[in-house]
Amino acid sequence: MDFRFTDEQRMWHDTLHSFMEKEVGREYTREHDESRKFPYEVYKKMATQGWLGLLLPEEDGGVAADPVMFAIFCEAIAKYSLDTAACLMTSMFTATNISSHGTPEQKDKYLPPFLRGETTFSISISEPGSGSDAAAARTRAVLEGDEWVLNGSKTFCSGAHLPNTTIVIMVRTGEERHAGLSLFLLPNTSRGLTVTKLNTIVRRSLGTTQLYLDNVRLPKESLIGEVGKGWTYIGEHLEFERLSLAASYVGNARTALDDTQRYTKERKQFGKALSSFQVLKHRMAEDECEVEAARLLTYAAASKMARGERAVKEVSMAKVFAAKALFKTAFNGMQALGGYAQLPEMDMERYFREAKHAMVGGGTNEIQHSIIAKEMGL
Ligand SMILES: Cc1cc2nc3c(=O)[nH]c(=O)nc-3n(C[C@H](O)[C@H](O)[C@H](O)COP(=O)(O)OP(=O)(O)OC[C@H]3O[C@@H](n4cnc5c(N)ncnc54)[C@H](O)[C@@H]3O)c2cc1C
Repeated sequence: MDFRFTDEQRMWHDTLHSFMEKEVGREYTREHDESRKFPYEVYKKMATQGWLGLLLPEEDGGVAADPVMFAIFCEAIAKYSLDTAACLMTSMFTATNISSHGTPEQKDKYLPPFLRGETTFSISISEPGSGSDAAAARTRAVLEGDEWVLNGSKTFCSGAHLPNTTIVIMVRTGEERHAGLSLFLLPNTSRGLTVTKLNTIVRRSLGTTQLYLDNVRLPKESLIGEVGKGWTYIGEHLEFERLSLAASYVGNARTALDDTQRYTKERKQFGKALSSFQVLKHRMAEDECEVEAARLLTYAAASKMARGERAVKEVSMAKVFAAKALFKTAFNGMQALGGYAQLPEMDMERYFREAKHAMVGGGTNEIQHSIIAKEMGL
């Protein structure tokens, strides 16, 4: 067994990290968190590099990156913020639904402008009454002549308020719990749709929203794939999504720990560097173990996926372990930086807020444990 990157993977890693430092950077990330503005410049630059198409096949204009290369990408783009990573990944994942199950007309209409960085996608699964139990969704679509009529409400739909955004929405078209769910393409300017921003402590540059659908009429051809296949389609990309989340948590945890080390080496109290106090040193050593363990779990899951093997248990293990490692590292960073940790210019309070969300977004820690237990035959 060899734990090293290949030359190609190392080059990809270095290219991305240097891009994040030169083209994005801490200040830009911090400003966009504070002003709650979407990082359009970064999104456009990523599009120019062709990176928005990493998950799409070549025939749809993408490059079909393998899971290890994709994990390297996600680890790098979350270097300064999970929010920046989400601004890219949300659209990238949602585009795969269109690429895998869309008609040629849907692909022609939606994928080229996305790949050029001119449009974004949102994914709307959660509802006020159904979060972890997503299959209990009640928002409904009924076919009337040549139109689908949608009624209900959705919550936490990230990025749905942004200009030129299309929402891929999962709604009920039948009574069966899973086989009664379908996916639709819903432009955010549709008549009868109200999008209200939520004032969350994270996803401040992407933004997250509540949707109200009051007799929203969509043309028949807004359906993605077949009626009743929505749950299956969403499930298809979950392994990739959880892997990408795990990798992004690892990337952000690494920065949180590096920042803690740097600060504690520079800051002196009682005539000594904070890093010389054993309690702080040991906490950082423990965090080093956990961040590295999270990284190994993430790349072990990515390698298994790259071999074409089922990795449901492995990606959930990586996601939940990396979320905890990130939270602990950011929590310890908050303590090590004392009162200064609370100033946005130190970045630690952002890592800490986002680390809390890592334990909830993309399936909570408890739900990941349930998946792992099921895979263990429990
Ligand atoms: C900032 C933000 C952005 C988001 N973006 C999106 C998005 O773009 N699209 C989208 O569709 N959704 C999005 N979500 C929703 C997110 O996926 C849900 O918040 C998450 O799945 C949890 O659902 P819930 O909040 O309703 O919590 P609940 O499901 O009500 O859970 C509450 C608590 O109970 C626990 N729990 C629930 N069921 C079980 C069980 N069976 N066993 C043990 N414990 C259980 C949970 O783990 C959690 O701790 C976003 C959420 C936030 C906060």
